[in-house]
Amino acid sequence: MRLFNTLSQRVEPFTPLGEEVTMYVCGVTPYDTTHLGHAFINVIYDSLIRYFRWQGQPVRYVQNVTDIDDDVLRKSREVGIAWDELGRREVARYKDDLNALNVAPPTLYIAASTETAKMIELIQALLAQGHAYEQDGWVYFSVKSDPGFGKLAEAAGYVGYDSWLATANERGNFPDDPRKRDPLDFVLWQGQQPGEPAWESPWGPGRPGWHIECSSMIVKYLGSRIDIHGGGSDLIFPHHTCEIAQSENATGEHPFVQVWMHCAMVGLGGEKMSKSLGNLILVSNLRKAYTNDAIRLLLLSHHYRLPWEYTEADMQAAAQRAETLTHAAMASVQSSAQTAQDADADEAITSAREAFCQALDDDFQTPTALDALETLGEQTLAAPTQARVAALRELAGVLGFRLEA
Ligand SMILES: [Zn+2]
Repeated sequence: MRLFNTLSQRVEPFTPLGEEVTMYVCGVTPYDTTHLGHAFINVIYDSLIRYFRWQGQPVRYVQNVTDIDDDVLRKSREVGIAWDELGRREVARYKDDLNALNVAPPTLYIAASTETAKMIELIQALLAQGHAYEQDGWVYFSVKSDPGFGKLAEAAGYVGYDSWLATANERGNFPDDPRKRDPLDFVLWQGQQPGEPAWESPWGPGRPGWHIECSSMIVKYLGSRIDIHGGGSDLIFPHHTCEIAQSENATGEHPFVQVWMHCAMVGLGGEKMSKSLGNLILVSNLRKAYTNDAIRLLLLSHHYRLPWEYTEADMQAAAQRAETLTHAAMASVQSSAQTAQDADADEAITSAREAFCQALDDDFQTPTALDALETLGEQTLAAPTQARVAALRELAGVLGFRLEA
């Protein structure tokens, strides 16, 4: 299989480091409902994992939930619900939406608030090596201490310090924080603010920064070097760039990640779909009008690296295609006396399998794999056999379709 690596900007052959593919995807901050952008990311990585497992390749997959951060605390004050209760409620909704879309749960799904011990350990390692400093109970990563800082950002087109600072400021950085030595230095640990929950640390009570969460969960549950790190392309900078700086400097091992695999943004009405703009297509609303297979098909009809826009017309077309696949999978078969040889001898099945695998092996081209599935579906409808129905269901299952009436 070959995958595009954001760091090298090339499609490269992929071979896992160990027996299991180790994979991490940045999860949600649970303060609002699941939108189509979240669903896209989760359905893409879920399909990739299904494809690995179908080929007999085990996968160990971890996703975090950022249950404690500024957004969660702000929303919790706005709606008058405790931060942890808000988190539990929103995580339950998120899981319900993903479960409906047949996204299998990760091997481990871990809340940041339970992981502060490991985060503190990594922060101490960074302090000991001069990559971090403490000021008034807050700890920061010193970007100037790392000559390699920003490689991933530069590869993806954020070139130079000024561009990094401007982007970081748009995405929540506080350049004027008087405790910082450099405006781009980022928070590893923040001291407790009035009315906020806090955890004990060597620097006094407080809570972790966002970036350190992912570094620490990866090191603890997957190792200091992993195979695939996923997430939305909006996380390349600063989040993933900061993860690399933290992880590689704390563990001394590199590269931290073999393949940086980023999913493109989903848009609506010419803008990126986002909470801040309020232009969201919620999965829970789509589910009222369309089947789960139809939504999944819409998502997989876009290659993961290409930005796309939601339109009602595309959603309806996807619903039509999902219905045709389901009809084919339900086709009544005349003879039940089919053998494995029948499947081998059926050119429709062998060429569908070949085209399907070729597409997915080539940087996970799900639109082309769907075409192969659809061709087999049409051939099954035209001349149904038990072997065709079985092959159709098998390949559809690799992409997570249930094909139920
Ligand atoms: Zn992350």
